[in-house]
Amino acid sequence: MSKDTNHYADLRVDGARLWDSLMELARIGATEKGGVCRLTLTELDGQGRDLVSKWATALGCQIRVDGIGNIFMRRAGSRNDLPPVMAGSHIDTQPTGGKFDGNYGVLAGIEVLRTLEDRHIRTEAPLEIVVWTNEEGSRFVPVMMGSGVFAGAFTLEHALAQRDREGISVADALKDIGYAGQQPEAPVAVRAYFEAHIEQGPILEAHDTVIGAVQGALGQRWYDVSIQGQEAHAGPTPMEMRRDALLGAAQLIQSVNAIALQHAPHGRGTVGWIDNFPNSRNVIPGRLRLTVDLRTADDQILDAMDRALSEACRELEENSGLQVTLEPVVYFPPQAFDPELVGLIDQYARDLSYSVMPTVSGAGHDAVYLARVAPTAMIFVPCKDGISHNEIEDARPEHLEAGCNLLLHAMLHVAGVAIDTEASA
Ligand SMILES: [Zn+2]
Repeated sequence: MSKDTNHYADLRVDGARLWDSLMELARIGATEKGGVCRLTLTELDGQGRDLVSKWATALGCQIRVDGIGNIFMRRAGSRNDLPPVMAGSHIDTQPTGGKFDGNYGVLAGIEVLRTLEDRHIRTEAPLEIVVWTNEEGSRFVPVMMGSGVFAGAFTLEHALAQRDREGISVADALKDIGYAGQQPEAPVAVRAYFEAHIEQGPILEAHDTVIGAVQGALGQRWYDVSIQGQEAHAGPTPMEMRRDALLGAAQLIQSVNAIALQHAPHGRGTVGWIDNFPNSRNVIPGRLRLTVDLRTADDQILDAMDRALSEACRELEENSGLQVTLEPVVYFPPQAFDPELVGLIDQYARDLSYSVMPTVSGAGHDAVYLARVAPTAMIFVPCKDGISHNEIEDARPEHLEAGCNLLLHAMLHVAGVAIDTEASA
């Protein structure tokens, strides 16, 4: 039995306290331009983890670290046999990262616990705030490493064996900062997982909307393409006798763009990296490698985009005399979030009088892996000009507060309020 959570409709987080905590964490690894450089499993990451753990301990939480260094900060409920209601994100950043990406999701969770503590509200199910290891994938690949191990996307052994450019393994880096924990013997059951996050895109801001009720994440297919032509002198070689790999690449880049545009509004197609050989002013390029990143919301459409890309490569070969090889390297299926939890976010946004719109995540998040093993939802709030992974990343305190209030009510709703909680709340 739990109390009617409508009783707590007036409950609100302390937005100023949330902001202060964000600014305090951002001092660890602060950059001159106002951003944060706190790469995963570095000494600075260790300091950030220590600070967040200290805040949770002060709230009476129990701290558990698993084999890949994910930190679970548990606030007991009245029925600790129930699976926990979780919220979390990551506190590692890109080399030129900002203060909010990831950090917001973790500290919004801490602020939820602080608010419940202030008001002496005990939930029925336990609550856990989680820091996932290496979401960014900047120092170690694969990205979303901690949540990926948790969700069984790859093994702990595989993750621990990965090395950075200096040859340091994940296993050693975890030991160095004191976060090599114990892997639980059985998978951990999760009642629900919530992740509050800045949008990292421009849509909420463009619609003057405070909350994005995230329906799911785009599926992704990544490829390596190599194009083989022939190097030759730029002067003596007539146009009709050339096998110009860079010219072929230019056509393929146009095709990638067209494939994405044909699948609007969620289709995305990007060639982000190119290696042209010999890259010399007066040599016809003879060899070229490039990457392709295709995304969309529906797996069948993603398959259609995949076929269109293969077709574009084949046509290029036929029309140009170039040799084109297309190698798939990454596949993430589109991931829908739990309709009931997404509905809950939408409903509470309306109840609390925040503007809200449905949205999809174009980027990967820990929540995308969690959705494979637990009912999951995300709460997006706007970030200035849609910019993140940048030192100028910025968000408005009132938006962060709004998202945190939704997190509070959604967690309370799912976890239930213990019957013996004082009525003063
Ligand atoms: Zn993030």
